[in-house]
Amino acid sequence: MVLWIGLDDTDSKKGGCTTYIGALLIRRLERLGLRLIGFPRLIRLNPNCPFKTRGNAAIALKLQGEYSPEVKELVAEVIEEYAELGEEGTEPGVVFIEGEPPEELRRFYWRAVWEIISLEDAFKLAERIGAKLLYYENGRGIVGALAAIGADLAAGKTYELIAHRRRDYWGTIRHIDPKSVFEMDKATRPYTFDNVDYESGEIRIAPHTPCPVLLGIRGVDPEVLKKAFRMLRIGEPVEMVTIFETNQGTDVHLRPAKIAQLRDGMSAIVTGKVLEKPRFEVGGHVFFKLSDGTGELTCAAYEPTKSFRNVVAKLLPGDEVAAYGAVKLKPQGLTLNLEKIHVKKLVEAVVKRPPKCPKCGKRMESMGAGKGYRCKKCRIRLGSEAAEIIKLPRELTLGFYEVPPSARRHLAKPLNLQI
Ligand SMILES: [Zn+2]
Repeated sequence: MVLWIGLDDTDSKKGGCTTYIGALLIRRLERLGLRLIGFPRLIRLNPNCPFKTRGNAAIALKLQGEYSPEVKELVAEVIEEYAELGEEGTEPGVVFIEGEPPEELRRFYWRAVWEIISLEDAFKLAERIGAKLLYYENGRGIVGALAAIGADLAAGKTYELIAHRRRDYWGTIRHIDPKSVFEMDKATRPYTFDNVDYESGEIRIAPHTPCPVLLGIRGVDPEVLKKAFRMLRIGEPVEMVTIFETNQGTDVHLRPAKIAQLRDGMSAIVTGKVLEKPRFEVGGHVFFKLSDGTGELTCAAYEPTKSFRNVVAKLLPGDEVAAYGAVKLKPQGLTLNLEKIHVKKLVEAVVKRPPKCPKCGKRMESMGAGKGYRCKKCRIRLGSEAAEIIKLPRELTLGFYEVPPSARRHLAKPLNLQI
C-alpha cells in the first residue's frame, strides 16, 4: 500500500521550518513501520503568492504503509511540537492520500505554481479525491500540501541536501568554514549550484534566519550532493541530513505570454522590443519599457540584482529581448521584475554629424534638426540625408544574462545548470 503525506505552512516569518518537520516525520514514521519510497519532495509554489511565509515551500512524502489513526496522531504530535502555531499567518495543513494521486492533483499543482488558489478550491478537491486532512486555523497549508503530492517533477527536477541543526543550536550563529564552501563549490560545479555568490563573496548555502536549517546544498545529482556535504568543515553537531527532490531551479513558474495577457502575480517570458533607453532611478533600480504589439510593459532590474543592472542599462530602443520574471501591479502599471533576459537582436548604435563641405572640405554647419546643413563660405546647402553616420560599438552582445545567485528566486533556473 502507498501512502502520500503532504504538508505545508508550518512556518512563520520568525522561524520554524517545514523541511525540519518533513525530515523528522520520515524518521518517526519509520518507527511506526512505514518506509519512505524514493526521495521526499520539497516543492516551491507560485513565488508571487501573497500568503507565503519565506520561500513558499511544501513537503510531500511517498511511503510504503497504510493510513491509520496512529499515523495521523504522530503527524499531529510533530506539528504541534515544532510548527509555529499561534504565529500570525501560520496555518498548517496536512493531506493524506492512499494509493497513487489522481491526475486532477497534477493539474492542481500547475495551478498552484502559476496562479493563486483559493482555500475553498483546495478543500473541494480534497473532498472529491477522498483525501484525509489534518489542519490548524483555516488550514491554508492544505493548498501547498495537495500541490506537493501532485507535483509534476517530470517537467524538471533538482535535489537539495538539507542539514538540520540540533534544537539547542537554533537561533545561534552557524559555524561553517566559508573557505570549505568555496572549495566545495569549485569541486562540484556545475553539478551543484548557488553555493556562493562570487560577485558579493557571500556564502549562499546557509540561511540567516533562526530556523532549524543549518545549510542546504542544491544540485542535479544526489551522489554529488553527498560528496559536497562531506567537503564542508562544520563546527557544530548536525541533527539530520536529508536529500529532497525538488522543482527548484527549473523555471517551471515561467510561461511565454503576450503583454495583453499579463496579470498581477503571474510569472512570464515576454518577447518584444525595447521602447526607450533604460534609466537608473532613485534607489539604484533600472527600468525600461518593452512593447510586443499587444501592449507596453515596464521591466525592472532592482538594486539587489547588482551588476545585472549594468547589462540592462546598455539596451537601446529597438533592441529585441525576451524578458523573464514575475509580473507585479505597480503604480506605473504592470511591471516585470527581471530574473533573466535574453538579448536576441541589437540595433546599430549610431550618431549623426554634419558632413564635410564638398567644395572646401570643412565640416558643415547644421541648420537645425531635420533642416539640413550649410557651408557659409561656399554657399552650399545639403539636405539632412547628407549627414555623416558614425557607428558606435555596442557594449552588449547577444545571449542570456541573469541576476546573481543572491537575487535569484528558488524556482529560477541558473543559466549554467544542465537538467
Ligand atoms: Zn565649403
